[in-house]
Amino acid sequence: MPGEAKPDFSKWHGMDRNAIKWGPVIDETKCVGCGFCVVQCSERRNVFGYDEQKRKAVVLDPENCMVGCNNCQVACLWDAISFPDASGIRDLAKQLVESGKAKEELEERLKKNPGLKLELPP
Ligand code: SF4
Ligand code: SF4
Repeated sequence: MPGEAKPDFSKWHGMDRNAIKWGPVIDETKCVGCGFCVVQCSERRNVFGYDEQKRKAVVLDPENCMVGCNNCQVACLWDAISFPDASGIRDLAKQLVESGKAKEELEERLKKNPGLKLELPP
């Protein structure tokens, strides 16, 4: 549904994704329509669409953007993509670290993926 994250992305570390302001904005005056942002974003998320008439990329579903990602902004050679100030996301990250939630998630991740755990040599 437009304006809401897909069910797969509706939570960010347990928080309501729809309540988090994070997603790309395209400056139409700078966009040259190369389309790289469309293919740079993951196919599962498909945040961008492409307007064939205007020959420009468009943001379809900003709520499906991964919180904290700015991959497409970095990749846009014409600097046509911007994001909100990241300090709000850093505040949320701080809460996750200080509450111990980040540690819990790390432990679960390492349990599920033992190959990520590097043992120090004896
Ligand atoms: S990468 Fe930049 S210039 Fe290219 S279509 Fe996307 S916004 Fe426009
Ligand atoms: S920041 Fe990442 S997830 Fe968000 S729209 Fe850009 S490429 Fe997609």
